[in-house]
Formats: sequence, C-alpha cells, structure tokens
Amino acid sequence: MKFMETIIKKIDKNNIEGNTIREAGEILKNGGLVAFPTETVYGLGANALDEEAAGKTYAAKGRPSDNPLIVHICDYEDLRRIAVNIPPETDALAAHFWPGPLTMIFQKSDEVPYGTTGGLDTVAVRMPSDPVALALIRAAGGFVSAPSANTSGRPSPTTAGHVIHDLEGKIDMIIDGGAVDIGVESTILDMTVSPPMILRPGAVTAEMFAEVIGPVDIDRTILNAESNIRPKAPGMKYRHYAPRARMMIVQGDIRDEILAIRQLAYAAHRRKKKIGIIATSETLPFYKYGIVKNVGTRENEKTIARNLYRVLREFDQEDVEVIYSESFAMTGIGKAVMNRLEKAAGHQRIDAAEIVKLQQYRRIIFVSGTDSARGPIAAELLRHQDLLQEYVVDSRGMVVLFPEPVNQKAEAVMRSAGMTMENHFSQQFDGESIPDDTLVLALEEGQKVKLRAEYENIKNIFTLNEFAQDSLEIPNPYGKPLAAYGECLEALRKLTGALAEKLNSMAEGEELWEKYM
Ligand code: AMP
Ligand code: MG
Repeated sequence: MKFMETIIKKIDKNNIEGNTIREAGEILKNGGLVAFPTETVYGLGANALDEEAAGKTYAAKGRPSDNPLIVHICDYEDLRRIAVNIPPETDALAAHFWPGPLTMIFQKSDEVPYGTTGGLDTVAVRMPSDPVALALIRAAGGFVSAPSANTSGRPSPTTAGHVIHDLEGKIDMIIDGGAVDIGVESTILDMTVSPPMILRPGAVTAEMFAEVIGPVDIDRTILNAESNIRPKAPGMKYRHYAPRARMMIVQGDIRDEILAIRQLAYAAHRRKKKIGIIATSETLPFYKYGIVKNVGTRENEKTIARNLYRVLREFDQEDVEVIYSESFAMTGIGKAVMNRLEKAAGHQRIDAAEIVKLQQYRRIIFVSGTDSARGPIAAELLRHQDLLQEYVVDSRGMVVLFPEPVNQKAEAVMRSAGMTMENHFSQQFDGESIPDDTLVLALEEGQKVKLRAEYENIKNIFTLNEFAQDSLEIPNPYGKPLAAYGECLEALRKLTGALAEKLNSMAEGEELWEKYM
C-alpha cells in the first residue's frame, strides 16, 4: 500500500480540543480514515454510509472483506436510520448499556452500503461511551464504521502506540487518547433472533442481559475448540487477536498450572528457547525461567482484560518463540478474556495435571548433623549438575541452635573448586509439613534412622548413598585438616553425580517437550 503522511494528535479526554475533533470529522466526511480511542479498544473509523471509505478500511487493515464492520453512533434516535425491524427489547438494552461496550445486530436499512456490512443484510451498531469517540462521531455526521485499529489478525490495539505500530503511513489520522479502559472488544448481541444471542463475549455479560430482558442464548462456538460449526459473527472464525509466537493455554487447578509452566519453562531454558509466561500478581513470584509478564490480578478480572493485548504485543517485540498462559476465572469479563486467549492460542491447550505427573520430586533436602559442611557442599554440588528437571535444592541440620556460616575449611575447598557457599547459613530441619514430592537425603545411616523414626509423615527419606545407588563412604572431616575436607568434597562430587544420573533416569516426558515448544 502507498505510504501516506499520518497526522498524530494527542487529546485529553477531560478537556477535548475542538479543533482536533473538527479536523478529524472533516477527514471522515471526505472519505478518509481516522483511528480513535473507545472504551473497549482503539477503532479505525470511516464514514459508515460511504461504500468507498469502508473499502479503504479493509485495505488498511488487510482485513478479509467478508468480515463486517461495526457502525458507531452517538444518538439513540440515529439507530432508526440504519436499522429496521428493531425488536422491542432494544429500548431497555440501550437504556442500560448504551453508551457502552455493547454491539447489537439488526436488519440493515437501505442507507447502509453492503461494503460496510461485508455483504450481509444485517448491521452491527454500537454507541461507545468514550467522550472522544462520541465527539468524533458527531463531528463526522453521526455514522462511523470502525473495526479495531490493528492489522488484521494481530492483537487489538489498547494504546495509540499499538495503532501507530500497525497503521502509521496507511491512514490519515490517529487520535491519541491514552490507554483504553476495558481492553477487550464489545459484547456482540444478535437482535435478529429471539431470544437474542451473544456472538462475542465482552464486558456486558449474559448475566447482565438476563437482569434486563431475561435469558439470552450464547453462540456455541465462543469457547469451544475449532469445529465444523460456523461462528455467527464472521470475524470470530479467523485466528484472531494473535501474537506471532505460538501460544498455549495451560489448564488445571492453579497449583498444577504453576508447576506445569515451571516444568515447561525449565525444559525450554535447557534448550535455549526463548519463552514467555502470562502470569498474575499472585503467581508471578513462582516463576524463575522465561520472560514472565504480569497480566493483572486474579482478584479483579477487569485488570486482566485491560492488559491482555498489551502483554501479547510485548511478547512479539521481545521475539519469544512460545507463550504459556495460565487460565483465568470465567466470571464477569473473564469469559471474554478466555475467549480471546483461546483465539490467540488457536485453541491449543495443555493439561496441567498431565505435565505435573511427569515429575516425582521437586525439592531435595540434604540433612546432616549441623548443616555447616557436608550438607551445604552436597547441595551446592547438586545445583551444578546438569539436571533434566528443576529441583529446589536445600540443606538442613539435625541440631542447629542458631544460624551460622559454613565451616571455613569447607568453604576453602569449595572455592578452589570454583564454587561458594558464602550465602549459606545453617538451618534446623523441620519435618512437620514435608510434601510427598520432597526427597530427604541424610548423609549418614544413623541420621536417616532417626529421621524416619521421628517423622512418620515424610514419605521419602533415604541416605544419599542408598538413593544414588552408590556405596561410597562419605568421610566426616570435622576437626581434621584441610585435606580431609578435600577428600570429602571429592566423595560428595561422585555421589551427587550418581544422584543426578538417578534423578535424570527418573525424568519422564523428555519427548513431550518437542510437542509443547
Ligand atoms: P472488530 O470491529 O474488529 O471488533 O470486528 C467487528 C466484529 O463484529 C467482527 O467479529 C464481525 O464479524 C462482527 N460483526 C459485524 N457486523 C456483523 C453482523 N452484521 N453480523 C454478525 N457479526 C457482525
Ligand atoms: Mg478486530
């Protein structure tokens, strides 16, 4: 497409500059294209009653021309000029939800060109609540067709920056009104059937409709995997809202989702694959590998809706190859969020429980007498092993009265081997609530016997030798010269090597990672 100069103007929602709106209105009246903020996402406006202008919209977006546009109005009375056979419930719905994030579909009047409706005899109509949008629609003559102002198939724009990225040089003007409020597209309700049917979920939910006009239907294709059934909103059939990276939704209970994503992220890290994780404020601290982004808080789905598309676009900028997303509650706007995620992922899901069961142990605790030499050495050595699965590795002592740094000779031999335990302070073993995915490894037989007697609740207590299937003695260097610590280090190096082999032999699912990466 030919490059053109795009005018970019900032506007303050609370103090709308009349000249900017008049200039934009003139452009629209003359058949040009203006991107503008609405409360849902940024729209790419054209004069809805001008067939040629609609054609330009499709060209700028690269949008298939069978995908109809939504006509935006600013006065309820104007609905009657573009729609016919308007059912009686419309008044109540408009009274409750207009201006706002609701699009209603009616039979079109002769004034609406087929270019705007993608050849359909119906027309989609919305009255947005954003004051900039309303002022612009009025200045443009009252009827502005506007799909989302993104390149077709990309995530919808929630800031003017997103619009500039996709459409600068292809349209006449971009009005920058800051970040949008809602962040996902409007709810689409088909009013040509009875009861009306939701074709696309958004901020206005089925429950909210029910309170005003009684139960409504929901298009079955909204949350199901791609099937032979054709969605009733033509736009819903495309792989929409999508980042460039492959995306997968991890589904299960929240604990399983976190553990599964951790396993995937660790496997990706070992393969030097750049991956992204969509997490929430609540789950963010649990991830160590990958590019992790906070999409919002689970306490308020609205925050997730608001940030979703921005996060997807950021992953594109950072060139991740795969994105793993947690799943979110389907309450309120959550249904719309999950619908967009499903579309972005092309319905690729991962069953979290299936991944979680591939890993038997997640935490390994080495237990020694005072946690000041052999235990911390073993832990640090294991951390340096090449492990197929990720483990949280710690050490603890049977008798630790107060935290102390490691034995100086132990630290000295570790340093000459290129490692350090300078951040370690001894800690008392606490066996009260040790889950079954923890492996407790005592350094001596006597310690193991004592631990087993004391903690019947712990399922997995072994000596290091026993578990690593290597009978090599671990010498106790306490009170002996440096050389004894060196010998101890060498023995532990062999044993942790054998332990790593044993753990790696238990690691299942290696071939699965190819499928999920
Ligand atoms: P967008 O403006 O990018 O959110 O896209 C408009 C959405 O509204 C698309 O999913 C269209 O398929 C849908 N839409 C517009 N007009 C109609 C209509 N007459 N019947 C059904 N869906 C429609
Ligand atoms: Mg769109």
